[in-house]
Amino acid sequence: MAIKQFKTESKRLLDLMANSIYTNKEIFLRELISNASDALDKRHYLSLTDTNVSDADAHISITVDKENRNLIIEDNGIGMNKEDLENNLGTIAKSGSLEFKKELDDKSDIDIIGQFGVGFYSAFMVADRIDVLSRKVGEDKAYEWISESEEGYEIKSAKKDEPGTIITLHLKADDDNTKYSEYLDNYHIQSLIKKYSDYIRYPIRMDFETSRPTEEEGKTETVIENRTMNSMIPIWKKNKKDITEDEYNDFYMQEYYDYNKPLKTVHYSVEGNTSYTALLYIPSKAPYNYYTTDYKLGLKLYSKGVFIKDEANELVSDYFKFVRGLIDSDDLNLNISREILQQDHQMKAIKKSIDKRIKTTLEKMLENERENYETFFSEFGAQLKFGAYENYGMNKDVLIDLLMFKSSYEDKYVTLKEYVSRMKEGQKDIYYAVGESIAKIKEMPQIERVLDKGYEVLYFLENVDEFMASILMNYDEHNFKSINKGDLDLDSEEEKEKNKKDNEENKDILKTIKDILKDNVKEVKLSSRLKSHPVCLVSDDNLSIEMEKALKEMNQTDENIKANKILEINPDHEIFKSLKAAFEKSEDISDYAKVLYDQALLIAGLSIEDPVEYSNLISKIIIKSMK
Ligand code: ADP
Repeated sequence: MAIKQFKTESKRLLDLMANSIYTNKEIFLRELISNASDALDKRHYLSLTDTNVSDADAHISITVDKENRNLIIEDNGIGMNKEDLENNLGTIAKSGSLEFKKELDDKSDIDIIGQFGVGFYSAFMVADRIDVLSRKVGEDKAYEWISESEEGYEIKSAKKDEPGTIITLHLKADDDNTKYSEYLDNYHIQSLIKKYSDYIRYPIRMDFETSRPTEEEGKTETVIENRTMNSMIPIWKKNKKDITEDEYNDFYMQEYYDYNKPLKTVHYSVEGNTSYTALLYIPSKAPYNYYTTDYKLGLKLYSKGVFIKDEANELVSDYFKFVRGLIDSDDLNLNISREILQQDHQMKAIKKSIDKRIKTTLEKMLENERENYETFFSEFGAQLKFGAYENYGMNKDVLIDLLMFKSSYEDKYVTLKEYVSRMKEGQKDIYYAVGESIAKIKEMPQIERVLDKGYEVLYFLENVDEFMASILMNYDEHNFKSINKGDLDLDSEEEKEKNKKDNEENKDILKTIKDILKDNVKEVKLSSRLKSHPVCLVSDDNLSIEMEKALKEMNQTDENIKANKILEINPDHEIFKSLKAAFEKSEDISDYAKVLYDQALLIAGLSIEDPVEYSNLISKIIIKSMK
């Protein structure tokens, strides 16, 4: 019999499979088991309307034949006749894979294999010859489809007693990269079934040889035990009422190797255009690599109980990527093939629905379980803040009310809503202070006067905070305002007038100090911001000093990325008064000016340029004062 050629597009995919260097070759088993399960489904549907068709003892069985290096997957499902074999296995155009092929053309990348699987053809990753013996339900004749990969295939008449399909994989010879003989090990196959196909609704059976003692003393006999490998009922398919908290927690802890119980479990089903069941977990601790690129998203996708893929990032927005768990949808597999999930509008609908559900879960937690929410927020809050400002605040409406900051009110977490709700009469802005700890912020010279006014100050303790504020700019029409930046506009008309006059009257000494400090500062002025401290550094309304530090930490070493620093001096402080006296006596004040500037740098958490000079200056001043 002549060997038939595969259709061109199939040939290409086949080439790809046969020569695949893809490391996750094991997924072929999942694909074949899923096909078998689909075939059993079809037979089952048929049995509902056709009284001649029965689907008793529907099952899948897997056999290893070590001697011949064969792995055999058998089902008693719908089966295929000659046309089916020709159409289904001779071409891939049928199985919705055209989309997939487009993807391949674009990327010429085979990573996609692992993502979606490519059905039957994936078996060519591990086998150099495949025999498919099949008999269709309701027909007497059986056929055998045989292919030695790219060569093409042939179909011939065969004998088979019962309807169904037997797929025999002749495994490739082991090579340096892959030990194909792994697939002849019952226990390895068992682990693959557990991993990928545990929840297939039909029993997957395998024979295991075991020895047991005979009646005769000291002797054992070998018996064959037929075992079902899969548990068939996944926890998420059970009724919520029948699942204990421990079961939920155990499942999570096992699946994600987490020693900590999850903070929150969300289990629900959605019926509608796209029905799905979700079992979601919010971890109580961020994985150690959460804020790095190594972190792998913890959502799994199942379709009809069949594991499809890990790290299903298309199922949830990035800002909620701390969520772990799984989604199982019956709708996906029935209508479309597994390959094209990513582009699928149903997937998009599911994502939207999951995002919404996570959001309401967090909102409820914030409202009713404040302590839990704070635990959550201290682990994953930075993610939400980042989400709120990335893409120029595109998602801020989703996230902004989930954010919290510690504040001067009680040094505890507050939401922006809470902040605004207790703003003082006449307060226009939302004040924040950036620092590495609450203690450090409290020591800031600038904060005193703001607190004296009775205004609450948010503590921005993470790098992301100020970036967020600078992109979002306001909340509920109140601007975010740094106490370390620009003009705070806290003064009464009278105070403003006094400050203006002070600066005017002292413009000579201020200019002299500015000349001493050169380009280190943009401006030197008398401040109304300070109460008990002599000096502080602030920035103008552009880049803040804290952002300059953050950018430095991120290795943005570009010298041009610098805050414009303004040295503010407290006109009522003794130091200024002495400085002024010296200046008026025409003494050289450059040592004092430099020390004051260095002090301001230190208080702002910046390093001083020349510590040796600073130390020498201090010594000089001490010696002078003791003379
Ligand atoms: P997909 O499963 O995505 O449709 P496959 O390449 O895995 O693509 O399979 C192609 C087709 O071959 C299936 O749609 C099905 O009609 C048929 N098929 C594969 N395996 C079996 C089987 N065990 N029993 C019956 N039909 C099968």
